[in-house]
Amino acid sequence: MMRRVIVSAIVVWAVALLAFAYQDLMSGNNLIPELSHTKKLQYNATWKITAYCPGRCCNSRLTENGIEDYTNSAAVGGLTLTGLMDMGVHVVAVDPSIIPLGSIIKYNDTYYVALDTGSAIKGCTLDILMPEHRKAHDFGIQYCDDVEVFIPENPRGVIEAIKAKAGIRKP
Ligand SMILES: [Zn+2]
Repeated sequence: MMRRVIVSAIVVWAVALLAFAYQDLMSGNNLIPELSHTKKLQYNATWKITAYCPGRCCNSRLTENGIEDYTNSAAVGGLTLTGLMDMGVHVVAVDPSIIPLGSIIKYNDTYYVALDTGSAIKGCTLDILMPEHRKAHDFGIQYCDDVEVFIPENPRGVIEAIKAKAGIRKP
């Protein structure tokens, strides 16, 4: 009985937190319904945190087959990194094999949406989008034990909701 009370308290707290997070993310007042069913994970790990900018400097690499260039594009497709920043969305690149795209990450009192990936982003690593290369460079590499991951029941729905906000409709 006691156990059940504790569990529901955590769930309510997580939902309230996400309602707040949404306002912070989108600077609006409408809750994304997809965020109301979310499980919170706290990894017993030290996270490696890096930063990047929307430019070619941080979004291209030389491979055997030539240059891969993802300048200003989010891995979820259809959204530009600068457009997301203009909407007030804090973007983070994650390893999609451990965190589904569309999840919410709380780091350093800010809520980020996992909308991007990167070849160097593996495991408990976050790559935070910053508006200028200078800021990303100055951020360097940091480490943090206190990262919270909120995985929505339907992460794809969160991405679609952001695309709808951006004026992108499903074909
Ligand atoms: Zn850069």
